[in-house]
Amino acid sequence: MRRDRCTKIVATLGPASSTRERIRALVEAGADVFRFNFSHGSHDDHAARFALVREVEAARGRPIGTLMDLQGPKLRIGTFAEGRVVLESGRPFRLDLEPVPGDATRVELPHPEILEVLAPGALLLLDDGKIRLRVERAEPRSVETVVVAGGPLSDRKGVNVPGVLLPIPAMTEKDRRDLAFGMEQGFDWVALSFVQRPDDVAEAKRLVAGRAAVMAKIEKPSAIERLEEIVDLADGIMIARGDLGVELPPERVPGLQKRIVRVAREAGKPVVVATQMLESMITSPAPTRAEASDVATAVYDGADAVMLSAESASGAYPVEAVAMMDRIVVEVEHDALYRVYLDAFHASARQTSADAITQAAARVAHTLHSACIVTYTTSGATALRAARERPDHPILGLITRMPTARKLTLAWGIHPVYTEDARDLDEMVTKARRIAREEGFAEPGSSIVITAGLPFGTPGATNLLRVAWVT
Ligand code: PEP
Repeated sequence: MRRDRCTKIVATLGPASSTRERIRALVEAGADVFRFNFSHGSHDDHAARFALVREVEAARGRPIGTLMDLQGPKLRIGTFAEGRVVLESGRPFRLDLEPVPGDATRVELPHPEILEVLAPGALLLLDDGKIRLRVERAEPRSVETVVVAGGPLSDRKGVNVPGVLLPIPAMTEKDRRDLAFGMEQGFDWVALSFVQRPDDVAEAKRLVAGRAAVMAKIEKPSAIERLEEIVDLADGIMIARGDLGVELPPERVPGLQKRIVRVAREAGKPVVVATQMLESMITSPAPTRAEASDVATAVYDGADAVMLSAESASGAYPVEAVAMMDRIVVEVEHDALYRVYLDAFHASARQTSADAITQAAARVAHTLHSACIVTYTTSGATALRAARERPDHPILGLITRMPTARKLTLAWGIHPVYTEDARDLDEMVTKARRIAREEGFAEPGSSIVITAGLPFGTPGATNLLRVAWVT
């Protein structure tokens, strides 16, 4: 039941993937983690899918990760008397607080807090950046803009304000209700949209209170400015290229993607590359060559996971999209150049015994051509440290808490197995040998490299490295 790859696949669930059979097929095709998008669907929809995921997990006997993705604040314009207008480039256009239908000269922007911080020169992007407005004059209840890029605009389209730190928190009342529901369900990861500053992540972590891992979605220029601090606070990172590519010019996204992957790898935090990876497979059974190349790039860069959104949630070929992603990842990881690109960056070890032992384990496994590295872990920290090394051998994580095992389904190279902790050194070795064989990693005669912390059951105390031969 082991996968033939280290990079994980996150598949979003939705109307196209709501039955037990479909969810099982997605797992068999390669999905390691399921994302639940709280921008869509009711709590009942999510609860039903969540229960099915747990049923499929129980039937397979392998942990499956679950990620709830909070909607975050959505800024929208009001409505138009005719439902739609066409804005002409170079013409003036006003945004104000008047709750009356708009026309080609003005529309309501029902967000006083946004109007307050807009200054001349600020750009407003409407409808995913298709319409661009530049603020000419700002008043307390309205802004006068000039249309920089015109076109059709209809009711309630979204608004992005890229260059401005907005005085709004990342979590709305709806997000708080969704989060409370998600924590009752038992989600393993919570993804936070609209992160602008480290405090947004700190607040989410306070609310989650250790019940799940918190993933910061990087989608705003203000988050890029404080990337290292955000990565430091978060448990994981999602490169939300959809919104990022609206707030920033598309040509900046590839370079930023590489930078974010590096910063996350340096910190040892799982990083997911998301959005439009196999977009054409929403309607077509095969991807474009450029999409295949996009998935491959994320894998060569050493991202922990690649993600499908509408492809698996509402597309016509959800299982095919996961299977395609799986094939691309496997192909890349078997390419001789994969190691060259992966090793182009190496996270620096910190001066701790845990880092030293983990780094040594990767070296020993390399020299001995070991079957795998086995890490005993409770909190997951030891296994994540091993993943941070991006060793050239799989990591078998023997994990004493099921929530940790599920959380680690997202992390590069970790094959999580839920098991009780070893009571002594002999049991540690016997158990590692047995599970390495049972899970298809080792055969009699092969070596395994074990790391653990003594005394057993002490989270984060990695201080032991042992080589064992499988019999
Ligand atoms: C994104 O913007 O790329 C993303 C993943 O977020 P959402 O799907 O919530 O827009």
